[in-house]
Amino acid sequence: MGRYHVQFKCHHCGHCCTDVICLPTPWDVLRIAMGTGENPYTFLEFLSSEEITGVEKSDPTWLEVNGERYMMAVQRDETVGCFFLDKQTEFCSIYEQRPLLCRLYPFKLHETRNAEFDSFSLHTDVGCPRNQDGIHETKPLYELYLQDKMHQDDYAALVQAFNKDKNMTRNPDDFLQLFIEIVDADQI
Ligand code: SF4
Ligand code: SF4
Repeated sequence: MGRYHVQFKCHHCGHCCTDVICLPTPWDVLRIAMGTGENPYTFLEFLSSEEITGVEKSDPTWLEVNGERYMMAVQRDETVGCFFLDKQTEFCSIYEQRPLLCRLYPFKLHETRNAEFDSFSLHTDVGCPRNQDGIHETKPLYELYLQDKMHQDDYAALVQAFNKDKNMTRNPDDFLQLFIEIVDADQI
């Protein structure tokens, strides 16, 4: 655990891009779509509560459709992993545009009782081997964390607006219409 530095070096074992479901915010989706030209309808999927574990029932980003809960995720294949994992190089093919949660993995923030910054450590329960032969400054990690927190708040507000509409004929991916201006979905 470190206030100014945390010891870690990624050894590219592949676990986080293969086995972990990637949950982007709408801001991440927009950055990826605009930076890569990829169509969000192609790279996203909406997982039901039975298809995803580890997300609290009280999480404010659950979409409610016809009595079921759904979570927006980057498409993932059980065998080859994330939609954006380059199968040849085994590196992220959208590294510059990747979601903020991917950038924060496997770091864990610790705050004081007054919700002020204290330190970062490495998550013990996300499957990363936590190699400690490198050094990361905590200041840029905390800036990323704050940015992601703001994005999560925007995300929760959009989901709240979506969940108010009880239209029985809609689909979970209709959520995208709240933040993507559809000129021609095939051209995004
Ligand atoms: S977006 Fe990139 S960094 Fe994030 S899980 Fe997918 S391949 Fe890995
Ligand atoms: S799980 Fe950890 S070591 Fe493996 S690729 Fe991800 S960050 Fe790197």
